[in-house]
Amino acid sequence: MKAPTPIIEIRDGKKSFGSFVALENINLSIHEGEILTLLGPSGCGKTTLMRLIAGFEGLTSGTLRVSGEDVAAVPPERRPVNMVFQRYALFPHLDVFENVAFGLKVKGLAKSEITERVKRMLHIVQLESLANRYIDELSGGQCQRVALARALVNEPKVLLLDEPLAALDLKIRQHMLAEMKRIHAETGATFIYVTHDQDEAMILSDRVVLMEKGRIVQIDRPEDMYARPKSLFAAKFLGETNLFETAVADSGAQGTVAKTASGIGFLSRNGVGHKTGDKVVVSIRPESFSFANNDEGSSQKTQGQVEDVVFIGSRSFYTVRLDDQAKVRIQVQRNGRVKPPEPGSRATIYWDADNVVMLPQA
Ligand code: ATP
Repeated sequence: MKAPTPIIEIRDGKKSFGSFVALENINLSIHEGEILTLLGPSGCGKTTLMRLIAGFEGLTSGTLRVSGEDVAAVPPERRPVNMVFQRYALFPHLDVFENVAFGLKVKGLAKSEITERVKRMLHIVQLESLANRYIDELSGGQCQRVALARALVNEPKVLLLDEPLAALDLKIRQHMLAEMKRIHAETGATFIYVTHDQDEAMILSDRVVLMEKGRIVQIDRPEDMYARPKSLFAAKFLGETNLFETAVADSGAQGTVAKTASGIGFLSRNGVGHKTGDKVVVSIRPESFSFANNDEGSSQKTQGQVEDVVFIGSRSFYTVRLDDQAKVRIQVQRNGRVKPPEPGSRATIYWDADNVVMLPQA
């Protein structure tokens, strides 16, 4: 079966500002209806990529297609794309209804149609009861929903959201993330979402595009990127991890074994392509270590001294100093099968070959 035409397709995209290259080697196909997140540290080019898709900037070289059509010559207002900015750019002298209706009025739609569409959109963002409030009488979360409604009322095929929750405090942000998922499901639009917050990216996205210094370094479903980062940068950027400098000691049908200088060995089933002697960095997430042997015969183990315990609600984080002095962080769920050791005591820690990721040195 032929794959459907992507709604957005960028091939060999490059964007320079004078002699500064902001984006390079951008190859990206965005599927209709997905929530795709552009994730990466400040300055990596996320906003620039959004502005290219919106049409506020043009590519220096390469192609950008929307629904199969090269849009190099298509101005922003003629693209089926709408952008919600970090500072919502709402009109303070208009009420909620008028803010949402604004774009439709400019387009010259009939009053009855405007009223119907705005009402439907206010219903979706659950602001019907505040239709006549002015913007400065709203909370941050409510302003954000007005901004969303104002963009969505134009029924764009693609909605670009540039750090839309950055100005909100944590509680409202978590609530708005759930809202965003619901609104996405109700409208069926493609959402392209910019954030530098990995939790937001993981909660919201169908796929994550991880960027570093103007390049895409990995595109994956969030759970795959978390479990199988392809670089040290990806392993460190998405979630917490323990890293060990090692060299490959053996590679065979069982997997690859890499050892630290002090002799701790890690067997990995994911270390394909490495040769004996290769220097690799082993990455193991805190929740992939355990104080309990899982009895499946695949466990590996080492010993150390428990230095510190931090309780965070349902989880605890243990710091264990291994006998070679390396420190390991271990996440333990409360009410787990095995009682974790006391601070100061010696402990055996276990891990499974499936959770050992071997990465090239940076
Ligand atoms: P942040 O998370 O801080 O918003 P970002 O990943 O969105 O960062 P961009 O705003 O896309 O990053 O910027 C990428 C790089 O391009 C930065 O180094 C920035 O200084 C540069 N840049 C962006 N716009 C311009 C411009 N108009 N002229 C010159 N340089 C620019």
